[in-house]
Amino acid sequence: MPSRPRPEMDSETDLELPTVGRTLRLFGRAFRLRCPNCGGGPVLAHWLKLRVACGTCGLRLQRGEHDTFVGAMFILFTLVGLFAYLVIAVALAVTESTPWDLIDTGLPILTLVMVFVFFPFAKLAWLAFDLMLRPVTAHELEWHRDAASEFETERDAQR
Ligand SMILES: [Zn+2]
Repeated sequence: MPSRPRPEMDSETDLELPTVGRTLRLFGRAFRLRCPNCGGGPVLAHWLKLRVACGTCGLRLQRGEHDTFVGAMFILFTLVGLFAYLVIAVALAVTESTPWDLIDTGLPILTLVMVFVFFPFAKLAWLAFDLMLRPVTAHELEWHRDAASEFETERDAQR
């Protein structure tokens, strides 16, 4: 008799008001491409793909949920948008006559490149955001370590 896959792990903690120090630590680790939970790693399979779980603490980098991609993309497009504004602001500040032609053609290409540059940062920043509001418990971390190692979520394991 085939065993029924366990349901995806739901966070056990209620939403928690984060402290400034913990928030900075979580995002600092994410933007150094480390595991936001433990600061270790490795966390990247390659530039555009996270490993299934952190190599140090065993936290599943999608936290066992199938829809983390949506949140990561929200962060990614926010980062790329802020970057585009920064480029325009710098161009306005440092040039005597703003090179609008260059901005017209160069900025869309540059933002497209930045989507790939920011990709792993956005994924880890989303995990940091998630951990900021829903810290992982010892029991949840145990679930992360026990789940079939090759699958990112239990839903993936059913395929
Ligand atoms: Zn870790």
